[in-house]
Amino acid sequence: MIHGIKGVKDLLPEEAARWQVIEAAARRLSTLYDYREIRVPIFEVTELFARSIGASTDIVEKEMYTFQDRDGSSLTLRPEATAGVVRAYIEHNLGASPTAQKFFYLGPMFRHERPQAGRLRQFHQYGVEAFGSVSPWADVEVISLLWRFLSELHLPGLTLEINSLGNAADRPVYKEALLDFLKGREKTLCQNCQRRMGTNPLRVLDCKVPTCRTATEEAPKLTDHLSPQSRQHFQEVIGGLDALGIPYLLNPRLVRGLDYYTLTTFEVTSQHLGAQNAVGAGGRYDGLVETLGGPKTPAIGFAVGMERIALMLPASTLPSPGKMVFVAAFGQKGVPAGMQILHELRSLGVQSDSDYRALTLKAHLRQADRLGAAFVLIVGDDEAEKGQVILRDMASKEQHELPLSAAAHSVATRLLPA
Ligand code: ATP
Ligand code: MG
Repeated sequence: MIHGIKGVKDLLPEEAARWQVIEAAARRLSTLYDYREIRVPIFEVTELFARSIGASTDIVEKEMYTFQDRDGSSLTLRPEATAGVVRAYIEHNLGASPTAQKFFYLGPMFRHERPQAGRLRQFHQYGVEAFGSVSPWADVEVISLLWRFLSELHLPGLTLEINSLGNAADRPVYKEALLDFLKGREKTLCQNCQRRMGTNPLRVLDCKVPTCRTATEEAPKLTDHLSPQSRQHFQEVIGGLDALGIPYLLNPRLVRGLDYYTLTTFEVTSQHLGAQNAVGAGGRYDGLVETLGGPKTPAIGFAVGMERIALMLPASTLPSPGKMVFVAAFGQKGVPAGMQILHELRSLGVQSDSDYRALTLKAHLRQADRLGAAFVLIVGDDEAEKGQVILRDMASKEQHELPLSAAAHSVATRLLPA
């Protein structure tokens, strides 16, 4: 037999039901905050990701699924969606709209990583992107939407960490200070970080290797190297979070793995997730639209991992299954009569089913029980001839007869909200 690909998971119906809860919350809250859905392709030209995410990031260096198209061009399965959304934003001139442009997306992303719990090669994200505002309140809104989403799903043990990376002018100054610090400690860093010193020194702060963490404990803090404007922006974001009662932790080491971030960056983790503890993350990327050839446009967004949310989703958040009706039809005349009722039930919006294989009442009732049916409509040849059907209440086991023609309506009024 042929197996699925390593790190690429099937979502079987039970699991898919949990995902529907998460997706419904994402859609409902996005709409509530006035974000509109955008669906961008799952593959793009490779250069889009290399240019936006950054050539010396983990994603671009080693995690992308890149392949050659038949005409020789290089294409990549999207490792994240921001790059594609920004491309679409520029391509369709969405910035021409006088209102702020706010989008959300849901969908699969692809990264070649070592598969483990909460880390897959095809995974899914819910994310938002808000274009056009430099106001710290835009940052607060995005964070507040993220926090509301995670809180409404009752996910346990969440912490929101926040930092400021400064603007494009602050970064080189800080990079120098950080490099000066790292140079004396090069030998204590892992191979990867020694290389990062040459390519992307900020990433050293993000390294998970314990010796690297110790070595950089005393490293200069980004937040001590902010320009007055960057500092003020950060303080206003923090003030906004305070005003809305959103709890956070200042983490001066939080740098995030993508190059395009500026100013505010944040990450939500959960202590219930084990090693892969990041639930979602985001930040400002005021330079990205311009980097990709569009007009200078401030922007901010977040992305959360659906798999990690699904791992934590408490059972109490799942809706109880709807009440369904089972039609037990058997016999030459009973089956067509029963199928007529089944069709009517469905036309009336009543979730209903039958079993085309069951030949006896006993077999039908067993299936009805398995499916958790609230009512069973029984129609055999005798009933069909009399123009009657038996309604059985599965909870009380009570039964009574109804005229065939009224059966579907009668059941619908019992089950559907008035
Ligand atoms: P991590 O530190 O866990 O590798 P990341 O910084 O690479 O995360 P982002 O690119 O910020 O993650 O993506 C946002 C969210 O998407 C993460 O917080 C996580 O929940 C989820 N995510 C990222 N990569 C994967 C993956 N390979 N499998 C499942 N979920 C993922
Ligand atoms: Mg990663």
